Amino acid sequence: TLVEDLRAARRRFSVEFSPAHDEATAARQWRAVERLGALGPVFASVTYGAGGGDRAGTVELASRTARETPLRPVAHLTAVGQSAAQLAAVVDELVEGGVRDVLALRGDPHGDPRAPWEPHPEGLAHADQLVRLALARGVEGVGVAAFPLGHPESPDADTDLRHLLGKFAAGAGFAIAQLTYDVEDFLRLRDRLAAAGCDAPLVPGLLPVTSPRVLEVTRRLTDGHEPSWLNQRLAPLLDDRGAFREEGMRVAVEDGRRLLAEGVEVLHLYSLNAASNVEALVGELGLADAREGTCRTPVVP
Ligand code: FAD
Repeated sequence: TLVEDLRAARRRFSVEFSPAHDEATAARQWRAVERLGALGPVFASVTYGAGGGDRAGTVELASRTARETPLRPVAHLTAVGQSAAQLAAVVDELVEGGVRDVLALRGDPHGDPRAPWEPHPEGLAHADQLVRLALARGVEGVGVAAFPLGHPESPDADTDLRHLLGKFAAGAGFAIAQLTYDVEDFLRLRDRLAAAGCDAPLVPGLLPVTSPRVLEVTRRLTDGHEPSWLNQRLAPLLDDRGAFREEGMRVAVEDGRRLLAEGVEVLHLYSLNAASNVEALVGELGLADAREGTCRTPVVP
C-alpha cells in the first residue's frame, strides 16, 4: 500500500501536479509527468479545484497517470460545493480509472477562500467525513492535510491537533503538511503528533521559489506566513531573474537538507507542472531511488 511505501521510504520524494487549463500547458505537464516519473517518486498527487482549477481535469490526469505510467497517482478531493452523493460519484470514477489513493480535504469556499466555510446542504462539513466516504467506496490509501502553524480557522494549536488526530481516527494513513519555509514549524508539528502517539507518515512540502510568480504562489500556500528572511533574501534580486532563481533554489536545498538531517524520510515536491526544478532538487538532495540499491533485483535462491 501507499502507506507501507511511505513508511519503507525506499523512494524519498513525491511530486505534485495541477490539472492544466490549456492544451499547451497540458502537453508540457505530461512531459513533466513522464520525466519526473523516471526519477521514481513514491506518488504523484494531482490537486483538485485549487485556485478555481478544473475538477474534471483532476480525475482525467490522475486516471491517465494510473493508466499510462508506472507512477502511483494520489487524487486530491475536496468537499467544496458538492453533495455527498456527488462526491461519492467522483470517488467511484477515480477508483474505476485505476486511482487507488486520494488526499481527502475540506477545501475552501470558491471565490474568496477566506470567506466563512459553508458546507453544501447535502455535503460534508469536514475532511474526516471525506476520509470515511473514500474508504467506504474502495479507496485504498487516504491522506489528509496537516498545518504546521495550525489551520487559520483553528482557535488554538491543541484544537487543531485534535482535529488532525480525528482525521487519522477516521482512517487516514498519512498527511501532507502545508508548505512552510521554517523547518522548525514542521518539526514542532511532527513532535506534537508523535507525543500524541501518532506515528503516521507526515510529509513536508518543498517549493523552490525560483521566480517572483512562484513567490506569489508561496504566499497563497503558506497563508501569508512566508518568513521575513525569505523575503529579505529574495527581494534584492527581483530585477535579476538568474540570481533570484539561484537563491530560491538554494533556500529549497537548505530546507531539504535540514529536513533530511532531522530524519524526514520523504519530501513532497511541488512541480508547478514543470520538471526542471524538481529534477534539480532531486539531484541536489540525492532523492532518486536512493535506497533501492541492490534490493531492486529480486534474489532467487
Ligand atoms: P479540515 O480538516 O476539515 O479542517 C478545516 C478546519 O476545521 C480546521 O480549522 C480544523 O481544525 C477544523 N476541523 C477539522 N475537523 C473538524 C471536525 N470534525 N469538527 C470541527 N472542526 C473540525 N485545497 C483545494 O481546494 N484543492 C487542493 O487540491 C488542495 N490541496 C491541498 C494539499 C495540502 C497538502 C494542503 C495542506 C492543503 C490543500 N488544500 C487544497 C487546501 C485545503 O483545502 C484548505 O487548507 C482547507 O481550508 C482545509 O482543508 P482540510 O482538509 O484541512 O479541512
